[in-house]
Amino acid sequence: MSDSGPQTLVFERNSNPVPASEREALLQNPGFGRVFTDHMATIRYSEGRGWYDGKIEARKPFNLDPATLVLHYAQEIFEGMKAYRLPDGGATLFRPDANARRFRNSATRLAMAPLPEELFVESVRALVKVDRDWIPTADGAALYLRPFMIATESLLGVKPSADYLYCVIASSVGAYFKGGASAVTIWLSENYTRAAPGGTGEAKCGGNYAASLSAQAEATREGCDQVVFLDAVERRFVEELGGMNVFFVFDDGSLQTPPLTGTILPGITRDSLIILARELGLTVREEPYAIDQWQADAASGRLREAFACGTAAVVTPIGKLKGSKHSFTIGDGGAGPVTTRLKSALLDIQNGRAPDQHGWLDRL
Ligand code: PMP
Repeated sequence: MSDSGPQTLVFERNSNPVPASEREALLQNPGFGRVFTDHMATIRYSEGRGWYDGKIEARKPFNLDPATLVLHYAQEIFEGMKAYRLPDGGATLFRPDANARRFRNSATRLAMAPLPEELFVESVRALVKVDRDWIPTADGAALYLRPFMIATESLLGVKPSADYLYCVIASSVGAYFKGGASAVTIWLSENYTRAAPGGTGEAKCGGNYAASLSAQAEATREGCDQVVFLDAVERRFVEELGGMNVFFVFDDGSLQTPPLTGTILPGITRDSLIILARELGLTVREEPYAIDQWQADAASGRLREAFACGTAAVVTPIGKLKGSKHSFTIGDGGAGPVTTRLKSALLDIQNGRAPDQHGWLDRL
């Protein structure tokens, strides 16, 4: 498996899986990211040898030397994607090729070995097939997949690792926010920024999230659900939330979302919604939006709706924004019609209720 071609992963069945009755009980109310399946996919990489030892095996702890590079210099990347139940009882992934590409780009930015995209998709598909009974059936529920890669060379020198471990784990999930589909309140971070030009903002690396936690903790202290960041240069333009992209909906029916200039994550949900909105005849601009403009537009009524989007949160209306100098409600503070329409359009495709005209589904 050292070259770039996909290879069949060796399957070592978990001899001690969770009993079916216990699994069914867990799937009733899984929450987010706490319920894990029986297996995981792993593939190793070493400089000179390439990718090797690909497996689907029982989910178990790693055995790491205390000098393992990832523990010191955070050379780590990850992805987030979902497998959905289809009405005929089958299962599907949504645009896994897009996650594979982003994972490769993240690897390049973090000076890690880029996993061949075919191998990424094959590993995710194989894991979902083995653990398909863990895909919940409730509306809005799904099997969340977490591919990730860590630097595994044991060394205290600061340099790119020569060895990597790639792994995929899976978690049965319900709604991301406690309030389910209702509107969230977001906190404007003025003490912290998320990413600077030339930094790692557009890579999906653990370090970005570690750096966002103080801001998220501040949001929680202020009674908010999520944090929203401004650009690091002028501290003026809205970038994204801690784990979601953001869209604005105006009174003329047009939409706007911050452009991909290297400091925000190129969300696959964001990209899909831009396509769907344009197909619905809506204008979508990828342009910067200043926080003072947001406040003025919310006050004047020019801004009708705002929403956050991502794999985990799907499409979540933003009802209110709070900050040390700002505090305002968007529209009537609930879910607006455009937000609701786009959310349905996306979920209908992901759950196989609408035709997959874009070839986004990868049925298993
Ligand atoms: N921004 C950030 C910072 C995120 O963590 C995520 C979730 N991956 C997103 C945006 C949305 O990306 P996607 O639609 O691909 O899940």
